[in-house]
Amino acid sequence: MTQDASAPAAPAADPDCVFCGIVAGTVPADLVHADDTVVAFRDLAPKAPVHVLVVPREHRRDVRELAAVPETLAHLVDVAGQIAADLADGDFRLVFNTGENAGQTVLHVHAHVLAGIAQTESDTGEL
Ligand code: 5GP
Ligand code: ZN
Repeated sequence: MTQDASAPAAPAADPDCVFCGIVAGTVPADLVHADDTVVAFRDLAPKAPVHVLVVPREHRRDVRELAAVPETLAHLVDVAGQIAADLADGDFRLVFNTGENAGQTVLHVHAHVLAGIAQTESDTGEL
């Protein structure tokens, strides 16, 4: 995807980042989607019948940093919707834990896509 000239330079992959490892293919993951911009894979500890993480290929810390590249953020939301439609009934929760005090444990921005929730009436609780 072409980014406009005003977009910030693409950050380098972080060798200590597990999601950079999944993007690079050096850390195994159950991928459900991959394209030039984002990768999506099932969460290791699912909190809903469908619990997928969507990450940009570029290492950015959180959704505030991702907002500097709005076309990537918009694409990520679009992919989340496609995943919810493909793997569940199309409805979904989209959660970006942002900052360690809000529960962000992996500092590579990721959207939690939670779907299929009505089938179980489960409370997804803390993510
Ligand atoms: P956070 O708490 O940062 O919002 O979410 C991080 C999520 O990443 C957690 O739900 C956790 O289960 C998931 N996670 C952490 N490490 C891995 C991993 O190596 N592979 C996968 N598939 N999920 C991971
Ligand atoms: Zn990373």
